[in-house]
Amino acid sequence: MSRVWNFSAGPAALPLSVLERAQRELLDWNGSGASVMEQSHRGKRFIAMAQQVEANLRELMDIPDDYAVLFEQGGATQHFAQIPMNLAVEGDSADYIITGHWSEKAASEAAPYVRVNVAATSKSESYLRMSARETWKLDPNASYVHIATNETIHGVQFKQPPDVGNVPLVADMSSDILSGPVDVRRYGLIYAGAQKNIGPSGLVLIIIRRDLLERPTRPMAKIFRYVEHAAHDSMLNTPNTWGWYLAGLTFEWLKDNGGLAAMAELNRQKSELLYSTIDGSGGFYANPIDPPVRSRMNVPFTLHDSALDAAFLQESEAAGLLALKGHKALGGMRASLYNAVPLQAVQVLVDFMHDFARRHG
Ligand code: PMP
Repeated sequence: MSRVWNFSAGPAALPLSVLERAQRELLDWNGSGASVMEQSHRGKRFIAMAQQVEANLRELMDIPDDYAVLFEQGGATQHFAQIPMNLAVEGDSADYIITGHWSEKAASEAAPYVRVNVAATSKSESYLRMSARETWKLDPNASYVHIATNETIHGVQFKQPPDVGNVPLVADMSSDILSGPVDVRRYGLIYAGAQKNIGPSGLVLIIIRRDLLERPTRPMAKIFRYVEHAAHDSMLNTPNTWGWYLAGLTFEWLKDNGGLAAMAELNRQKSELLYSTIDGSGGFYANPIDPPVRSRMNVPFTLHDSALDAAFLQESEAAGLLALKGHKALGGMRASLYNAVPLQAVQVLVDFMHDFARRHG
């Protein structure tokens, strides 16, 4: 078997033991004689598993009882639109904090359903820093304030939730959920596509304070209404059973590996190793992002001469390092360091980077 060191931004690396367990259980899940994909979500076995998965997530993230947990579909992108559909009515406004590609997209997809107020944006600074909280133009009557806690492409991350007063804070955590402890109580709604720190794509986790489920909405089909999904335990229609199962395996893996505090420490070590390599390269590599907001999950970096990019990618791939090509919007490189990427992978990467710089410097 040859597994690569996988730095993909998403869909991304999953823990090896999770994949091995899924492989072992594929043909005969839980003594049922069939795979988990081949049986009803209304069956006793699936329902028991689904409840356990939710309980494990609640324990890992310390989710209070007055929050509902939904196992949804449609990708985070669908929820860019569905969130304003559920939290605002015609004429309402919502504050958006734009810190990179994904929060910008969230705002533009919300615009048909809510008056979007860009309360802060660091676009004119190429998203290399975040605008200071004191400069945000928040509206105390906004339906909610939206942030992306981690910008997967631009590599900036909120290390703490901003204080937004009594207006519910809505956070796209697609690329940093479960990477460390968060105080769920600080948020009205947390959502995350699964394909980075949770499992396969096609599953979206939503953690929503229950009072927000009761907000009046415009007329719309039940399938778009979070309150209906909550009332039916995310089984209003057929859920992504495979994604739910794999998420459950990842949650067990997290519990077995020290939970979110242990992940935070590991992610700190991994990202510091990579940033210190970049910063200490004498200008061979660069990451121009304001250090306090540098992401611990996605590290974009450039080579001093972009003519070397092709060689870097080709040689890194030959060395077993996968998916280091940067997003096309930024060029250069990007290493994504999600939970399932071990410290050893980052050590192999920085050893390669030192060696590459020596040979091409
Ligand atoms: N938000 C963030 C922070 C993301 O990184 C992504 C995908 N990379 C999305 C939203 C969109 O997710 P999806 O493609 O699953 O809709």
